[in-house]
Amino acid sequence: MIDICVNLQNSQFGNDRSEILERAAQAGITGILVCSTDLDMVSANQTLCERAQEETSWPQLLTTAGVHPHDAQTWKETDSERLRKLSKHSLVSAIGECGLDFNRNFSEPKAQRRAFQAQIEVASETTLPLFVHDRDSQGEVLHWLSQPIWPPSIIVHCFTGSAEELDNYLNADCYIGITGWLCDEVRGRALRELARLIPDNRLMIETDGPFLRPHNAPENARLFPDTLAALKKYRRRNEPALLPFVLNQLAQLREQSPQELAQLCSANAQRLFGFDRSD
Ligand SMILES: [Zn+2]
Repeated sequence: MIDICVNLQNSQFGNDRSEILERAAQAGITGILVCSTDLDMVSANQTLCERAQEETSWPQLLTTAGVHPHDAQTWKETDSERLRKLSKHSLVSAIGECGLDFNRNFSEPKAQRRAFQAQIEVASETTLPLFVHDRDSQGEVLHWLSQPIWPPSIIVHCFTGSAEELDNYLNADCYIGITGWLCDEVRGRALRELARLIPDNRLMIETDGPFLRPHNAPENARLFPDTLAALKKYRRRNEPALLPFVLNQLAQLREQSPQELAQLCSANAQRLFGFDRSD
């Protein structure tokens, strides 16, 4: 299985990152796309991906390079050139995560649009896939994607939009990433209806760890150091070893076997991002 979004530099993954990656491998995760949310993070992720090439007990790691809409106010004119340079690294497999988030507006919409447009251009030039975050953009993400030119390929990660948005993204040949949002009894209701409509060759799965811990994962899943303090601290933390909970829920909805679904999602991730193995 390949987890196409893990925020491994997040402070919730401070001192047990090695154990997390070992647990991921034991849970059947063969590859992880590590997410970058600002340009300083890209180098740290590249170093981590290089280390994974030596660590036989870790999954294969590849990384994105880009600036999240929350951090868009940090975007400077010179960052396009910086991003172009960073993206030349052999373990950088996508530009992003970038996009628009009008749900929380941690950066001004104007700054979000500027950073997003610039990253679309870099993706088009470098021909790397564009790794997109869209939260409550009301179709505006798609508007920017189509001008002036389309990036060669697009993955809309953590899709939580409407039927119309899904339709538009699929018509535009985008890949769709599904997270544990699906497993949330209340918030995931609409997504559960839509998840079965995504064609096999457009679908990928992700944890988006440490966020969005799947609700169907038992709270006492013994995935962290077994102390009371750790239990308290990490009770709501998500990690790649919990990807099977997303997979199983999705498989049930789509009336596919988890094995078949894992294989087809991983084959898509392998094709798009260049992972070595798809099993
Ligand atoms: Zn995101």
